[in-house]
Amino acid sequence: MHTIDQLDDGRAVYLNGQRINVATIPIFRKTLALNNQYYALQQTHPTVHTYQEDGQTYDIAFKVPRNVADLRQKHRAYQEIAQTNNGMLGRTPDFLNSGMAVLAERSAFLGHNDWTDFAANAKRYAEQVKAHDTFISHALQNPQLDRSQPINGIPSGYAGVHTIERRADGIVVSGAKMVNTMAPIADDLLVFNPPELLLEKGDTSYAVAFATPLTTPGVKIICRKLLDHPGYTEDDYPLSNSLDEIDAYVVFDHVFVPWENVFVENDYQMSNRFFIDSGIFIQTSHQDEVRGITKLEFATSLAIRVAHVLGLDGFLGVQEQLGRLTANLELIKGAITRSEENGQLDEFGIYTPSQQALLAVRASLPGYFEDALKVTQHLAAGSMVGVPGFGEFNGDNGPILQQALATSRATAEERSKLLNLAFDLTSSGFGQRQLMYEYYHGGDPMRIRSKHYLGEDLTNGDAMLDRLLK
Ligand SMILES: Cc1cc2nc3c(=O)[nH]c(=O)nc-3n(C[C@H](O)[C@H](O)[C@H](O)COP(=O)(O)OP(=O)(O)OC[C@H]3O[C@@H](n4cnc5c(N)ncnc54)[C@H](O)[C@@H]3O)c2cc1C
Repeated sequence: MHTIDQLDDGRAVYLNGQRINVATIPIFRKTLALNNQYYALQQTHPTVHTYQEDGQTYDIAFKVPRNVADLRQKHRAYQEIAQTNNGMLGRTPDFLNSGMAVLAERSAFLGHNDWTDFAANAKRYAEQVKAHDTFISHALQNPQLDRSQPINGIPSGYAGVHTIERRADGIVVSGAKMVNTMAPIADDLLVFNPPELLLEKGDTSYAVAFATPLTTPGVKIICRKLLDHPGYTEDDYPLSNSLDEIDAYVVFDHVFVPWENVFVENDYQMSNRFFIDSGIFIQTSHQDEVRGITKLEFATSLAIRVAHVLGLDGFLGVQEQLGRLTANLELIKGAITRSEENGQLDEFGIYTPSQQALLAVRASLPGYFEDALKVTQHLAAGSMVGVPGFGEFNGDNGPILQQALATSRATAEERSKLLNLAFDLTSSGFGQRQLMYEYYHGGDPMRIRSKHYLGEDLTNGDAMLDRLLK
């Protein structure tokens, strides 16, 4: 764990054209404080958030799941962490740590080259992360420059991250990765390639997977525009003025990576396998979907609270809409439980959640989340966009507004804060980024649904069909 002032450590973070010290940006301070709840819960709720191994105490995310009870405990821990930020922080440390747990056990497939043992490197790195509880951000998606071309068809050198020099002590890489959530405030960056938009033979120099501290010379973290609203309070913008899970474009300018931190190099097929075969994909998906459901619970409750406070919840048509949201929530909760109950031991004795059930969550959650936001927008209607700034309550118009906006269901301030929250989640820049996040952060839903269809066991359905059609 680090405090925000420790992030004045030489990292090259840029915001709006200026190189900045992240500690000076108020919304980064707040975001890191929320992110650090991951560490705080280890102290305040150790029975759920920690486990013992060889006399040492570790966060539960690092535990290699061996049975369904392990996955259930991890589920509970992920959920409690997500509840501290209402599911709005997608990349708290437990996300990648869940993958580090299994990388250490599954790394043998990475093999070696003439200079280094990739398998041993990955195992050692995962163990170091566990020992120090390092906060990792990950960078897999390559910039969307011209998707009609393979990476090697784009001459700029920024269509991904590629090796430009191979030395006895390591590699030198240059290039870029497209979106790295939390990179400005994390410790390390884990760089690899996605399991979709696969690399081809000609992309071999881009076939790298490695980890590097975010302070490494040549790593430039270029933040997107901030989403908070200086000058307004958290009563006006309850979400966007309390956190921003900042995304950044990361440039690598002749970055040296010692061999010990390299896990794949100069092997496009291994690069394509890295995310899935390491087990990182499936275990991070479990964390990710638990976090996503926590957010859906928050959004569903918000829609229902808005309906109640505005006196709409007695209407049958409104109840039908709210019932759709609660039904969606129930279905999704059932799917994640199914992913745990239907898990299987892999060849390393790792209890692995059902991929089909997790992919079903990932295929459906973006739509369910969007539905919850739309219902809230439609119910809160004009009142949501017409809420005066909270400062009005302390100004000349305060007494009028106190009277005019109060109902038997809520005081003027309670009602305004709820409507501000509704606006922030559904309609502000922050809310729109959250919508994008749920849609895309776990990969393209089109590919996820295709993958689900291709992986589904339809034995029973096919047998019935065959019987009838014979
Ligand atoms: C808020 C947010 C946070 C993110 N955080 C991270 C992060 O921390 N780390 C990280 O690595 N990534 C992150 N991402 C990136 C995310 O992983 C990608 O956006 C996602 O995987 C989709 O990839 P893409 O953006 O490259 O879109 P593409 O894959 O290029 O797809 C864009 C559109 O084009 C279509 N398309 C593209 N290629 C084809 C094709 N060959 N055939 C048919 N259709 C095609 C797709 O269906 C889609 O509609 C984040 C994204 C968002 C929105």
